[in-house]
Amino acid sequence: MTNISEPAWFPIALRLDGVRVLVVGGGMIAANKVRLLLAHRARVEVIAGRLDAEMQRWEDEGSITCIASTADEATLRAAMPGCRLVYAATDDRDVNRAAASIARAMNIPVCAVDDPQPSTFITPAQIHRGLVRIAISTGGAAPVLARRLREQVESTIPEGTGALAVFMQQQREHVGTACPDISRRRQVWETFLDGAGAQAARNGDASRARAILDDIIATTATRGEVWLVGAGPGDPDLLTLRALHLMQNADCVLYDQLLSPALLDRVRRDAELVFVGKRRNNHTMPQEEINAELIRRAQAGQRVLRLKGGDPFVFGRGGEEIEALLECAIPFQVVPGITAANGCAAYAGIPLTHRDCAQACLFVTGHARADGTLHLPWDSMARPGQTVVIYMGVSALPALCAKLVEHGLPAEWPAAIVERGTRADQRVLTGTLGNLPAQAARAGVASPALIIVGEVVRHRVISPA
Ligand code: SAH
Repeated sequence: MTNISEPAWFPIALRLDGVRVLVVGGGMIAANKVRLLLAHRARVEVIAGRLDAEMQRWEDEGSITCIASTADEATLRAAMPGCRLVYAATDDRDVNRAAASIARAMNIPVCAVDDPQPSTFITPAQIHRGLVRIAISTGGAAPVLARRLREQVESTIPEGTGALAVFMQQQREHVGTACPDISRRRQVWETFLDGAGAQAARNGDASRARAILDDIIATTATRGEVWLVGAGPGDPDLLTLRALHLMQNADCVLYDQLLSPALLDRVRRDAELVFVGKRRNNHTMPQEEINAELIRRAQAGQRVLRLKGGDPFVFGRGGEEIEALLECAIPFQVVPGITAANGCAAYAGIPLTHRDCAQACLFVTGHARADGTLHLPWDSMARPGQTVVIYMGVSALPALCAKLVEHGLPAEWPAAIVERGTRADQRVLTGTLGNLPAQAARAGVASPALIIVGEVVRHRVISPA
């Protein structure tokens, strides 16, 4: 069990040039910290009885100063005042803890190496590319996990990222003068990062990078746009790379209740999140109001991301939204998502087509009209040799099953319902047109849920544990 009351570490980056840091210990553990400290130009003082070869070399060349040879209480108390950080880095946990408690009493931040409990700061694993520094930490809880994450992140940082950061630093003033408006400036940099300019800077070709940057400044108008993005059925791992990319670039995100919170966690921290789903009175915001909101924000120059469950063009009213945008000449992009049918089928182990029994697959909506009636192409739905996938059909499930039987399918015809498909709490019920409604009622199946009708349900396979 995770202990969530465990205090989390707050990451900050410190400037160490010329800062006095005390390191207690002279072995390899201490040397690892001293190497980092020297790279940051700290003034390192050491208390150690014996210095490792590397530490000795630093002492000989005057990079560090060994100020005492025993880490007794009196020595520590005398050495700490004036130090801004203390590393307790001997291989003796008791000595480290004693040093840590003295430092804490003097209000000096202290790290007892590999011992988070008495420490007031820790030094995370780092990826270092010139000015770019990425720190990864599990708060000392799982160093092997931190190392693995570090490898994963490291492999995604392109070669030349350090050079890119230097180029951007050099051009900050230029871009700031050319684009005083902060959101336009961000747009310029983002366009730059997406294109050939960033590659040129990474390759060290600063003059070409600058030419491309100037071209972007000249052509980027403060024009908003709308990205209509499918977020998939719930599992955040099912987002497309393009969706993730746009989620990181948007100024604001309009979303509705179909989205799981895990998806919104992937949105850029400072983007505005706007909920346009069910309101307190349980009425959904009318489509016209959502369209108007998209248009208003885009016209104000924002990059608006309309995040939709599943795919925006599958029962997502995406078509209506882009028609409205087109009328106002607002540029847009549509990004497909994994629709509920695909996500639920895959995660439930039910194929949508099968050579033996389903040569076609029909997606239909089971949403009843305002008067409660269902108008669906029953004859084409109640056919063998195909799979019928019904969206928005939970409340009409009994009527749907009855109608399909009435139009010719046997009551024993296989059917399944997948509730909250692809999410951690997904439930799958399988049965027949005759018994699925009662099963679903007993289990209290609620929206969002997807109904799959057809012999493919019999081909359901579940992976061995
Ligand atoms: N554009 C969406 C569909 C929106 S209609 C898409 O492409 O998936 C809403 C319906 O989709 C719900 O009533 C439900 O039938 C289905 N649905 C969406 N997400 C689902 C999920 N995670 N599990 C089961 N059904 C889901």
